[in-house]
Amino acid sequence: MCRPAETARPPVPAVDFGNTQEAYRSRRSWELARSLLVLSLCASPALLARHEQLLRLARKLLGQRLFNTLMKMTFYGQFVAGEDQESIRPLIQRNKAFGVGSILDYGVEEDLTPEEAERTEMEFCSSALERDGRGVSKRENQFQAHRASGDRRDGVTRARTYFCASEAKCDSHMETFLRCIEASGGASEDGFSAIKLTALGRPQFLVNVRTPGAPPPPPCTHRGLTGRLEPVLSQFTEEEERQMTRMLQRMGVLAKKASQAGVRLMVDAEQTYFQPAISRLTLETQRRFNVERPLVFNTFQCYLRDAYDNVTLDVELARREGWCFGAKLVRGAYMAQERARALEVGYEDPINPTYEATSAVYHRCLDYVLEELKHNARAAVMVASHNEGTVRFTLRRMEELGLHPADRQVYFGQLLGMCDQISFPLGQAGFPVYKYVPYGPVMEVLPYLSRRALENSGVMKGAQRERQLLWQELKRRLCTGSLFHQPA
Ligand SMILES: Cc1cc2nc3c(=O)[nH]c(=O)nc-3n(C[C@H](O)[C@H](O)[C@H](O)COP(=O)(O)OP(=O)(O)OC[C@H]3O[C@@H](n4cnc5c(N)ncnc54)[C@H](O)[C@@H]3O)c2cc1C
Repeated sequence: MCRPAETARPPVPAVDFGNTQEAYRSRRSWELARSLLVLSLCASPALLARHEQLLRLARKLLGQRLFNTLMKMTFYGQFVAGEDQESIRPLIQRNKAFGVGSILDYGVEEDLTPEEAERTEMEFCSSALERDGRGVSKRENQFQAHRASGDRRDGVTRARTYFCASEAKCDSHMETFLRCIEASGGASEDGFSAIKLTALGRPQFLVNVRTPGAPPPPPCTHRGLTGRLEPVLSQFTEEEERQMTRMLQRMGVLAKKASQAGVRLMVDAEQTYFQPAISRLTLETQRRFNVERPLVFNTFQCYLRDAYDNVTLDVELARREGWCFGAKLVRGAYMAQERARALEVGYEDPINPTYEATSAVYHRCLDYVLEELKHNARAAVMVASHNEGTVRFTLRRMEELGLHPADRQVYFGQLLGMCDQISFPLGQAGFPVYKYVPYGPVMEVLPYLSRRALENSGVMKGAQRERQLLWQELKRRLCTGSLFHQPA
């Protein structure tokens, strides 16, 4: 569908990412002090290296109740919205009042013991052998079971991971996602809910799904050179067919619920050896449900060498088949783990060689999608990044292409507790912007908190700038006598 003829629309206000008074208008001074404390602690390599031992010690010394209180006053309070759907409401509503929406993300992780990881690896291997009964080429290595796929939380600092040991477990994860969708619907009229597909299917099956019967995927595209997508159920074994059907059914249940609740579904991207399955399943669900508008959003990781091919292929497919394209663009959360695995197993590193190369791919993909949006009013994209340069690039291209924020085709996304200096100015200027909002009981979100802490210590320049701005605003409030600022 083409864009309707231009009508008079309000001018797009300029966004000032350096105006701390505006950026932190929704925050009380003690919240700013907490952010400053937490982000400064995250910047200490010595503390980070020992943070797990320190947390265990604190729990032992303080007891569970005091430990929970301490966490809520610090890391948990910074990065997690609350324990359940009820307790997160005030924060969601406050953010909403300042123009920032929510993508609810139930943050409980499955814990995988080393024994479970070992057992899963053995299952992986025997299923791969049963299936192939042949040797494995170097390129196929990427999609083979390996000890390095055992515990996927190893080396992951930027995302949650699941491991679905049984069909019953997958069903129970689906119930969790359903509750999350309900909560998103109740929280706002224009919400998102995040889901991880590895929570809905068994790992050895997800690894096996490539283009059925086709040779292993070439380095340039995860769906095979031809771009053909054979009927999903053809050429699988009976067991795989059953699992594929179940996964598609689970996704169908979630998409239907989301549609009824007026919520959009964001399918998170995960490790490269799962991505072919995740993308295929997401694509099937998009074909079914993205009829009137983009209900289901896929995620593209621009740190991958083949990101541009993947994005353009999906845009083409959506155009040709007539469904609404919806995507979230990220740089990618599993870099260290992907590189270590490629080295250990013996295949080409799937990640771009440098940070600059990743940024160039991100901007190239984004540019391509924005051009598509210009001609197609039913397509949408979320720019999920804390990078101020990327956000500025998007704003500039939107202006050049005549994409108005009121069209709600270009969304922005940041994680709760990170880079408010980007989210809030965008929201107050009328751009659709969302925070990824994890919630769940303290002990169950600890692995998520570890990753947030590690992320803030990492390569991100944004965290350093954020500390400077927080400090600047606290000083401003102190000097102007507005230390007891109450968000209106
Ligand atoms: C709303 C939201 C949703 C997200 N959902 C997902 C998801 O579904 N799946 C997922 O994988 N991630 C997801 N992420 C995390 C995201 O992929 C990034 O890890 C994180 O946002 C940091 O990237 P940035 O653009 O914000 O910041 P920046 O600091 O600009 O970029 C850091 C990123 O650049 C890349 N990079 C760093 N060094 C190098 C190098 N030497 N070579 C190549 N690349 C390099 C890495 O991807 C690193 O994470 C999400 C993030 C947000 C904000």
